[in-house]
Amino acid sequence: MSEVFMQNYHRLPVTFANGNGAWLFDTDGKKYLDFTSGIAVNCLGHNYPPLVRAVAEQAAKLFHVSNYYQSDTAAAFAEKLVAACAPGGMKNVFLANSGAEANEGACKIARKYSLKKYGPGRHTIVTLRGSFHGRTITTLAATGQDKFHKDFGPFTEGFAYIPGGDIGALDRALDGKTVAGLLIEAVQGESGIVPQTQEFIEEAARLCAERDILLMFDEIQCGMGRTGTFLAFEQYSFNGKPLKADVVALAKGLAGGIPAGAVLAGEKAAAVFESGDHGSTFGGNPVAAAAGIVVLETVNNPAFLAEISRKGEKIMAAIRAWNHPAVQEVRGRGLMIAIDIDRDAWPVLEEGIARAGKNINSRSSGNGLLLLSAGQKTLRLLPPYIISEDEIDQGLETLRKLLE
Ligand SMILES: *Cc1c(COP(=O)(O)O)cnc(C)c1O
Repeated sequence: MSEVFMQNYHRLPVTFANGNGAWLFDTDGKKYLDFTSGIAVNCLGHNYPPLVRAVAEQAAKLFHVSNYYQSDTAAAFAEKLVAACAPGGMKNVFLANSGAEANEGACKIARKYSLKKYGPGRHTIVTLRGSFHGRTITTLAATGQDKFHKDFGPFTEGFAYIPGGDIGALDRALDGKTVAGLLIEAVQGESGIVPQTQEFIEEAARLCAERDILLMFDEIQCGMGRTGTFLAFEQYSFNGKPLKADVVALAKGLAGGIPAGAVLAGEKAAAVFESGDHGSTFGGNPVAAAAGIVVLETVNNPAFLAEISRKGEKIMAAIRAWNHPAVQEVRGRGLMIAIDIDRDAWPVLEEGIARAGKNINSRSSGNGLLLLSAGQKTLRLLPPYIISEDEIDQGLETLRKLLE
């Protein structure tokens, strides 16, 4: 491995040379079935032909124009994205490059919305314990896990954390005098696939509406169809009607592997950013936008989304049917799945799983299987949406053998 990298990643000794669909091939020619999608990024798998074509065609025309000019590709992407998020209440969008940047945009929108309407002092953003919102100083502050709050302080002030599911804490934290926004992952990803309950989300929506606090969803990992609906929070209701948010942050799978992020706003917050308020040199990059158009055209389709749910149910049912003593719990939505493994059985897996990392080299067959871990005892499965039945069966068989 190159010596010139900073030592912030625990990279495994595997070098991938190319990919095809749900498979990756290393430089020794070994095959790996990808149950990670590059952490929910390669949602259409590797080298998806329409995606390759769209990127190549756009690259041959132009790579980049600054946001001082119009781009038909960026505009087409933005139109499709807002349309895809319209059922969630979204009206317009700011295009960025990453998740952290999308969440920064969300925080800025909440702060300015509240400042203009209520004056200074009402700037706190409430987030949940176990959340993950990014690695910039502000999004680390937004992240409700103490292990992220060391070494890099002082952090951005004005964040408060409450336990997910705790309606009393929610009511106390969302006071109308100091709080500008509530930022939630409908299904927490990094901390181990933790869906919020209907009761908690509905109460959050009610309190936010009543106290004029922006209800913001970080859908960076759980959005873009991952849970079987285009946005994960669409599976929640408010007063018997589909839930609508004020702000939504997206990234990861948004352009299928090309860096892209977005923050979208609903009616309340759509006019918060005025000329000069926010920007990003690369945001809306035409190559990323061309890729994003393919992702949206493919994923935002009821039949395609239904397949994501069906495949996820199939995987979860299959693992539960093993009745394996080491498997404590299987949970998830769509192709966002967690398997809690007994602490005593975990060391068995550890031989195959590098701690930070997440790669299982199958001992039983020639093929490897790529998996993610989350915390101390959870395996996280995020297969690409295009994975076939047969590939699912192969991956599950490898995993089952590993547990023996
Ligand atoms: C990955 C992730 C982020 C950060 O995204 P980056 O693109 O790495 O900045 C933020 N929120 C959630 C929920 C994520 O999963």
